[in-house]
Amino acid sequence: MISNDTFKISRERMVTQQLIPRGIYDEKVINAMKKAPRHLFVDEALYDQAYGDFPLPIGWGQTISQPYIVALMTQELELKGDEKVLEIGTGSGYQAAVLAEIVKKVYSVERISALIPRAKKILSEIGYNNVLIRVDDGTFGWEKESPFDAILVTAASPKIPEPLIKQLSDNGGRLLIPVGDKFSQNLIKIKKTDGKIKKENKGGVRFVKLIGEHGWKS
Ligand code: SAH
Repeated sequence: MISNDTFKISRERMVTQQLIPRGIYDEKVINAMKKAPRHLFVDEALYDQAYGDFPLPIGWGQTISQPYIVALMTQELELKGDEKVLEIGTGSGYQAAVLAEIVKKVYSVERISALIPRAKKILSEIGYNNVLIRVDDGTFGWEKESPFDAILVTAASPKIPEPLIKQLSDNGGRLLIPVGDKFSQNLIKIKKTDGKIKKENKGGVRFVKLIGEHGWKS
């Protein structure tokens, strides 16, 4: 049996070998990656692979991103700690846990209802009580709770869903989303200030499809 301490060492190694050399410098992100127990979000048979430099299957044809991508996206959100963040694509709940380590409140939407009970259970067992999860087509965002200081889409879309731009805070809100075709995408970062949109390309990524009204139709 592998003890929890073994995983603590695995997380430290993940940070020093995979994250810092590739440009993860934000202390808040580094601490969150050192703390969030990634192994608990995958199947027990995969525990010993959980801190490897690759994505892992979480069932229903979906994957949990490689640790570096989770860290990069979180860092690009430029979080200070007092933000209200929306995640689209809860999946295993791991990215939500990393966000919950840093910010006050995380809202997360997942379209596959079967994934939700496990994500909720693990998050509450670990004690992340600041994550709210809902089943829905996340391409519509979460209007009732908007505006959001930051929005993170963890699935790839052919275009940026209009409702997400609308629900972004006008006061420097940040949106990160992989945009492209089914096989490869660019990580697009949007900043919204006084109704104006600034767009940046953060490089090539590969995500599963964002399926919904303002994403892929199937
Ligand atoms: N962030 C997750 C990994 C996400 S994989 C984690 O940390 O484990 C992408 C997820 O997006 C999948 O679970 C998929 O079902 C979900 N998804 C795809 N289209 C969606 C949509 N329109 N709304 C909400 N979730 C969606």
